[in-house]
Amino acid sequence: MQKIKTIEEVRRSHLCTGCGACASLEPQRYAMVDVVEEGRRPVVRKDAPAETGVALAACPGTGLQHDYDVSDSGLLPELGPAWGPVYRVIEGHAADSDIRFAGSSGGAATALALFCLEQRGMHGVLHTAADPERPYLNRTVFSRDRDALLATTGSRYAPSSPCEGLDQIAAADGPCVFVGKPCDVAALRRAEKHSPALREHTGLTIAFFCAGVPSTSATLALAEREGAAAAGDINALRYRGNGWPGHWTLDYQDREDNRQSSQMTYAESWHFLQKHRQWRCYVCADHTGEFADIAVGDPWHRDIEPDEMGSSLIVARTRRGLALLQAALDAGYLEEVADDPSLLPRSQPNLIGARGNLWARLSVLRLLGAATPNYSGFALFPFWLSELGIVDKVRSLLGTVRRIFRKRLLHPVPDSGDTVPAASPVPRHSRLNAADQSTQEVDIHV
Ligand SMILES: Cc1cc2nc3c(=O)[nH]c(=O)nc-3n(C[C@H](O)[C@H](O)[C@H](O)COP(=O)(O)OP(=O)(O)OC[C@H]3O[C@@H](n4cnc5c(N)ncnc54)[C@H](O)[C@@H]3O)c2cc1C
Ligand code: SF4
Ligand code: SF4
Repeated sequence: MQKIKTIEEVRRSHLCTGCGACASLEPQRYAMVDVVEEGRRPVVRKDAPAETGVALAACPGTGLQHDYDVSDSGLLPELGPAWGPVYRVIEGHAADSDIRFAGSSGGAATALALFCLEQRGMHGVLHTAADPERPYLNRTVFSRDRDALLATTGSRYAPSSPCEGLDQIAAADGPCVFVGKPCDVAALRRAEKHSPALREHTGLTIAFFCAGVPSTSATLALAEREGAAAAGDINALRYRGNGWPGHWTLDYQDREDNRQSSQMTYAESWHFLQKHRQWRCYVCADHTGEFADIAVGDPWHRDIEPDEMGSSLIVARTRRGLALLQAALDAGYLEEVADDPSLLPRSQPNLIGARGNLWARLSVLRLLGAATPNYSGFALFPFWLSELGIVDKVRSLLGTVRRIFRKRLLHPVPDSGDTVPAASPVPRHSRLNAADQSTQEVDIHV
């Protein structure tokens, strides 16, 4: 098995998720850039100091380790092996009808974040929004009120690096909310272990269910197919929301410089985009936010009626998440439709088979010498035995061999060629000082 020793090796080994934690924890050395064919990736700055090891300690690309107490009496034991820690599962939605409509599913992520800001005195929400200058890209934002949150609703099926802003949480005047992909939340949790300030100021983590992130080139190819000849012709781009699940909606200038728009269903757009997911998503063990306080997803356990109002599946994964979920319900920020643990497996039935498939995939990759993430506390082999028939077992093994060669996984990812200037001597917001930066110990003081 390959041992990954540096952040650069994480990327070269096809294991980077693009979370951005390395750029926040070692800002003098790393900056995130969008590599159009890959995703957001760390680039070493000009004249960068040596790697300290703090970023690698938080990097989720290399693997994930569960450390929750499986004997906690509040956990739902029947869900643990397939879904990680779960205290409660409900279907519900934002009570605020604007948030419910604009939200990706039922606006639960935004409603929970707003509850924390307005009723729990939390300082801000670190999350992701469209870049106003280049709307086919994402940027990390720190929202402080309802208007800012409402403007950033909706899933964006494009690369994002919300952990590049972790220093803003650490430097905040009070607790904050973090919203991100499961791997982003896992990175935050790992960084917290070495950073008292980050741990103290993280008031709630929300992860959304995630099947994978398509590259920017996928978005641009779809936009081009629909009429936007160049990236610069895109005025606005929304992937879903404004209805459930909502439409992929493109606003662009045509070749005669007239303003045009194009729309397709969420399902049509995902069918195109999902073929361009980054490799790390194919070997992901956590598609449902197992390291978050609260995870949110789509309640796909039933057919959606045309023009149905949005609805969310909401999973409390920690005692803190359980308490804040109940408080948001009590305060009228969320409305509950059903309280039923079986909603989770019924909404995402294919993920159980995916766990079994992952065991085969990781085994073949290791056998042929490719780098793999290191997982502990995840039951994979039992699902390989129980969930996959003989044909699927053979298919998963052969499919991985095919992918190893087609995606050139035994070869290092080539350097993107991007360059970024040296960082200013004391990074904005950061509490890291020169002495901390030079130490080799994994002790993060952001
Ligand atoms: C890449 C991706 C993959 C997904 N895969 C699945 C899936 O497999 N199964 C499933 O049920 N649902 C999936 N979703 C949808 C997700 O479940 C819903 O977005 C979730 O239910 C939240 O809905 P909401 O209405 O509560 O969110 P909203 O209230 O609309 O809030 C959405 C929040 O997500 C943040 N956000 C949006 N895009 C990104 C991004 N790219 N990176 C980080 N943060 C972002 C926003 O900043 C906002 O805070 C995926 C979404 C994305 C972006
Ligand atoms: S997974 Fe995150 S921390 Fe690891 S190299 Fe990629 S961006 Fe950096
Ligand atoms: S599929 Fe997994 S690795 Fe990929 S973006 Fe989602 S959480 Fe991260």
